[in-house]
Amino acid sequence: MKVLNTINEVRNLVKEWKTQALKIGFVPTMGYLHEGHESLLKRASQENDRVVVSIFVNPMQFGPKEDLSTYPRDLERDSVVCERAGANIIFHPTNEEIYFDDFSSFVDMNGLTSGLCGKSRPTHFRGVCTVVTKLFNIVTPDRAYFGEKDAQQLAIIKRLVRDLNIDVEVIGCPIVREEDGLAKSSRNTYLSEEERDAATILNKALTLAKSKIQDGERKAENIIKIIENKIDEEKLAKIDYIEVVDSFSMENVKEISKSVLVAVAVFIGKTRLIDNFTYEL
Ligand code: AMP
Repeated sequence: MKVLNTINEVRNLVKEWKTQALKIGFVPTMGYLHEGHESLLKRASQENDRVVVSIFVNPMQFGPKEDLSTYPRDLERDSVVCERAGANIIFHPTNEEIYFDDFSSFVDMNGLTSGLCGKSRPTHFRGVCTVVTKLFNIVTPDRAYFGEKDAQQLAIIKRLVRDLNIDVEVIGCPIVREEDGLAKSSRNTYLSEEERDAATILNKALTLAKSKIQDGERKAENIIKIIENKIDEEKLAKIDYIEVVDSFSMENVKEISKSVLVAVAVFIGKTRLIDNFTYEL
């Protein structure tokens, strides 16, 4: 496995692979890797001849008051995870390698990006779409792997690839959780012991909501209320949003009738955590 810092080095190696008709899987990440990332990497190495993982804390997708400077970073530890999971290249560029001083082109999207996380993070998805487009252009993978943990992001990337005719297959992978149900996240490291316990409320509330849908509840507003009441039981939790949306359009639904995404964002202390499930009728 090689750790490469420049676009040219990645391009040269990828070119070599392509002359041998090798299939390339790609996993974009911000590093501080956990079993969630590892599941994407393992799937990529099962389904492709070569795997590229990018580790880049993309400044463009952070808002001015967000955690860009404190976001956890540990390349040495990440290298062990990547090697174990079968990656061939870690692409670990500097900010300067990705963004020229006078960088002035952006990839933006309407509709899908306006609700859910887009409401409280209005510039986030422009940053995601821009960096993912750049990374796709650099790596030119056959397949790219994204987690369902970031369900809105996954829907956006699928739309981006369709709308802009990017020649890559986008593959969604299931959420990997801790034993007590908390979705794995690099941001879980911010939590104190007390907050870590409190954070289980996201999955508890979603599990309760799922069981109510299974029991026949079809009204989105009732599902939202059930989740809200459950999360309110936890004193350290402050709700950012609870939404029931169509899985493809990300538009709010009133009645649960086909495939819906039930998604939450909750502050536990200062840490904003997200979780979701998709329900197919
Ligand atoms: P990040 O490093 O947080 O930008 O995440 C990189 C990729 O890993 C994204 O596609 C995430 O959706 C995915 N991911 C993060 N956490 C998990 C998880 N717990 N289970 C599955 N995929 C995840």
